[in-house]
Amino acid sequence: MTARIPKSGQAGAPRRISVLGATGSIGSSTLDLLKRDRSSFAVEALTAHESVEALAAAARDLRPAVAVIGKPELYGALREALSGSGVEAAAGKDALLEAAARPVDVAVGGIVGAAGLEPTLAAARHARVLALANKECLVCAGEVFKAEMAKSGTSLVPVDSEHSAIFQALAGERAERVERLILTASGGPFSMLTRAEMADVSPKQAVSHPKWRMGAKISVDSATMMNKGLEVIEAFHLFATAEDRIDVVIHPQSVIHSMVAFCDGAVLAQMGAPDMRTPIAVALAWPDRMATPVKRLDFARLAALTFSPPDEDRFPCLGLARQALRSGGGFPTLLNAANEIAVRAFLRREIGFLDIAEVVERVLASETPVAPHDVADVLELDAQGRRAARAAIGGLGRTIAASSDGGRIRKV
Ligand code: NAD
Ligand code: MG
Repeated sequence: MTARIPKSGQAGAPRRISVLGATGSIGSSTLDLLKRDRSSFAVEALTAHESVEALAAAARDLRPAVAVIGKPELYGALREALSGSGVEAAAGKDALLEAAARPVDVAVGGIVGAAGLEPTLAAARHARVLALANKECLVCAGEVFKAEMAKSGTSLVPVDSEHSAIFQALAGERAERVERLILTASGGPFSMLTRAEMADVSPKQAVSHPKWRMGAKISVDSATMMNKGLEVIEAFHLFATAEDRIDVVIHPQSVIHSMVAFCDGAVLAQMGAPDMRTPIAVALAWPDRMATPVKRLDFARLAALTFSPPDEDRFPCLGLARQALRSGGGFPTLLNAANEIAVRAFLRREIGFLDIAEVVERVLASETPVAPHDVADVLELDAQGRRAARAAIGGLGRTIAASSDGGRIRKV
């Protein structure tokens, strides 16, 4: 039986979709699904930051009304790459915001980092459904973001696999019957390493995730387990659940994507192969379902599903995120900004892997943020966190001893 996607607007009209961050990992998985079911979807806008070639290739194939490249200096290259295609080329921040604000059935928020906040909010104000992958939006702007969503009446369907799992497990359930949310974590590529071993890992090792193929930033976040910390904050906002009722459990097979425990002792788990096309499809077709080519689970061959508690001594980022959430106000915004700067510095080999947590910890300890009340406040606080993180990185006094991938980072 083939699932039918409910059409919106005029009867029989395909769903109109925008993809923000169309060239990234989430973006590419989304485009793959759209290409497989061209009669059910029509693409309104595709955006990317700087990958002109990938954006133009996707636009030539999917024929959106507009394709936007974030960097204004790349406008000429995009226009040339799209000439004769009938797709409008645009560039720069205003064009990105304009494209994001086009009314659509589903806007996919696949930009990485707080840079996605304004475009994602523009989409949230004008789409019927916001398919949200960009967790940093909720982490840095939680209450502000939710207030905007409430004003527009847009439905938020999470794309992050854990939150999609919880969203699915909660369907038809009463919130007051939920006892705990249980986020599963693969443990990342360094789950078996000691702190001493982690001190020397390279960016290349950190982005080689054992179970998921993702963008560089979230891959490093998975390796430090900051990703799971950000996801605790994301779950707090999405499901209005107190921090001390959101558990994290290590589950290396990544078959159970998360669970909900209810007051009667029942626990609902959502399972599937580790492939983001399933949670993306859930959001694209919601409240229906659509077919995907994702590998099916073969239970007879699943040797074992194992679980263990996270080790917060080896992975302090999880505790730092919990601390920021408990402190509330502007602390999650600072945490996110500091982490983004620290991860970028690590990817550029300016600091070591363990320094990421150190930088975030120093920023949380040194700053006294005010609680943000609107987007301007969030952006100001984000800038404050970035400045503080750069200062903290300077204070570490790191230098790179060798530029090859195996090079060590040492203290001078
Ligand atoms: P990615 O780096 O692969 O792609 C990021 C996309 O955002 C690209 O299209 C890029 O052009 C665009 N972009 C980057 N900087 C931008 C800027 N300043 N302005 C506008 N656009 C910009 O990232 P990803 O792995 O696809 O992750 C995207 C988001 O989804 C992140 O928030 C991540 O945490 C979340 N997420 C990703 C996965 C995954 O499997 N990749 C899973 C869960 C959640
Ligand atoms: Mg996730």
